[in-house]
Amino acid sequence: MDKEQKDNNLSSQNGSKGSSGVDQNNSEYEDVCSMCRRTERQAGKMVHLPGNLCVCGDCLQSAFDSFERSGLQYSDLMKMSGMMPPFGDSSGQEVISGQTGEKDGEKADETDRDGKKEKGKRPNISMMFMNPMQQDQTRYRLKRKSEEEKQKERENFDVRSIPAPHQIKQQLDEYVVGQEAAKKAISVAVYNHYKRVFADNSDGVEIEKSNLLVLGPTGSGKTYLVKTLARLLDVPLAIADATSLTEAGYIGDDIESVISKLLAAADNDVDRAEHGIVFIDEIDKIAKKKNTNSRDVSGESVQQELLKMLEGSKIEVPVGGSSKNMMVPTTTVDTNNILFICGGAFPELERIIRERLMKNNSVGFGAELYEADTKTEGEILSKVTIEDLRSFGMIPEFLGRLPVVVTLDSLSEDFLVRILTEPKNAIVKQYKKLLAMDEVNLIFEEDALRVIARRALEKKTGARALRAVLEEFMQDIMYEIPKDSNIGQVTITADYLEKKGGPLIEFRSI
Ligand code: ADP
Repeated sequence: MDKEQKDNNLSSQNGSKGSSGVDQNNSEYEDVCSMCRRTERQAGKMVHLPGNLCVCGDCLQSAFDSFERSGLQYSDLMKMSGMMPPFGDSSGQEVISGQTGEKDGEKADETDRDGKKEKGKRPNISMMFMNPMQQDQTRYRLKRKSEEEKQKERENFDVRSIPAPHQIKQQLDEYVVGQEAAKKAISVAVYNHYKRVFADNSDGVEIEKSNLLVLGPTGSGKTYLVKTLARLLDVPLAIADATSLTEAGYIGDDIESVISKLLAAADNDVDRAEHGIVFIDEIDKIAKKKNTNSRDVSGESVQQELLKMLEGSKIEVPVGGSSKNMMVPTTTVDTNNILFICGGAFPELERIIRERLMKNNSVGFGAELYEADTKTEGEILSKVTIEDLRSFGMIPEFLGRLPVVVTLDSLSEDFLVRILTEPKNAIVKQYKKLLAMDEVNLIFEEDALRVIARRALEKKTGARALRAVLEEFMQDIMYEIPKDSNIGQVTITADYLEKKGGPLIEFRSI
């Protein structure tokens, strides 16, 4: 039997649908060969087999070749791998077990001699079921796009579609309070980054990448800023944690897992992922370990491995999984146009900067000594230099690939009060909206807001603590108020929060 004939046989037995009834040929996701893990783009058209399997022509051919060499027939192959075309498959009926068309465990119930039903007498386990690609239709498959779709996307995503820096900042202002310098620096860096993506390099002037390093204490809004940015620009965003990354071959996530996440955020659409944003949080945790004789697999080595990715290179990444293995297909993603933003709290950095400012004073910079003594943490951080970051443990090559350094202000009581009330989706506004649905007007006294901010500061987790603190106080209000439909207005006072009194309740005038 020649290859073409066998292909046709298999295709016709399965109809155009996969075993789960989803029309795979017309699916918006690319097929991936279950044997060699190459995508449709790499391996050409696939043959669909029951059990949601796809096999490329090459693999199918080599399978038949080896069977022919061993003297087996096509029917033997089907029996051995449990691939007998199931009943009802061609009609689009759901087939889960792969062999008989029954759902696992359903028909497997059989009556024994005593007339009792016994579960699982005939286990319906087939080899194919072990393949994770069968369990999730799209997770492991790349998005398929026609030329027209690609053209349309190119037209929609060009330099004119990227807002100017002042517009980016204006939009950020709606959600992110304060942090003026950081918002400005990020808006410019992002705008330049996307200009670089669309730039014509034929004149020999190549614009370098403007990856960012964002420094700021925990809960100061680093992640929030990046999330808001990605939403405004409508680009996919992946948030990764540097603490889980280790050198390839060691326990932990490989570097490629970061790009895998981005690919997943872009719905497995490689083109979209290639101009997305990657935020690597806790980057200070991969600083070079001091006084260690063993191999630094989660510190300096991770920085080394990240270099190529930050700079721009073609990386082979697993599709739909965080590590490369036999079961997961891979694809190549070019990181050249991906914007990398690294963030971290850098706890010891403040001391390093203060020490440097003090040292400089000994050679005659009196003003800097004064600064080192008086400035707050946020103000000191804004004086950071590449030298300070090197002293902290970041390697120079790594810092060289993050040319824009942005520092976030630390949070004061006033700042937290603003975060409570000013952003478009401020927490206080959310509570007001909830009670407005019960036709109750919710008011917070200024002093009450200050109590909440002070309590949040005590928790030392930045603005993140605000919601927890407010939640604690608001639970009773949200429970009690809807009980009485005559209540028209509730005012939260500082006394109520300090347990010295109750909230002010006003009834509706009838
Ligand atoms: P970080 O990543 O720096 O540890 P997050 O970005 O997770 O901190 O911030 C925690 C929460 O605090 C955010 O979800 C956001 O609601 C709030 N937040 C922090 N800073 C601001 C800000 N400047 N404006 C508005 N909300 C903020």
